[in-house]
Amino acid sequence: MASDTATLPKPAHITVRVGPDGAPNIEAFRCGDCDAVVTEQTIGCRACGSRQSPQAFRSPEAGALWTWSVVYRSYPGIEVPFVSAIVDLDGGLTLKGTVIGADHDSLHQGMRLKLVFDDAGGARDKEGAPYIGFHFIPEGDA
Ligand SMILES: [Zn+2]
Repeated sequence: MASDTATLPKPAHITVRVGPDGAPNIEAFRCGDCDAVVTEQTIGCRACGSRQSPQAFRSPEAGALWTWSVVYRSYPGIEVPFVSAIVDLDGGLTLKGTVIGADHDSLHQGMRLKLVFDDAGGARDKEGAPYIGFHFIPEGDA
């Protein structure tokens, strides 16, 4: 039975993959020579120059806060303040995203965070399919 792929959620970020059942995951690519991890498939490794194409793997969806900024000004319709952060996921991938549900004063380098998929602000494509994005919450929160 053919699925209606036009209405499947669309990734709103280069690392988000959506399975045939609509379930999202994070895909990254690792160099077999130097273990560098990148967000996209390349024909060689940008870190070590290896001509072996980095191999895809499913990234863990938890990691440690590296750095962050509390943003007080943004586009109309974007609620402020919010926390824009760089998170080092377990497994080596580094992602930028928003941290939700954390007291700004509690943020600290190394704080454990969990990636949560979301509806990318409710945006839809011209066929009405939703987009899937992500944000981070403190690990241990629901
Ligand atoms: Zn490499």
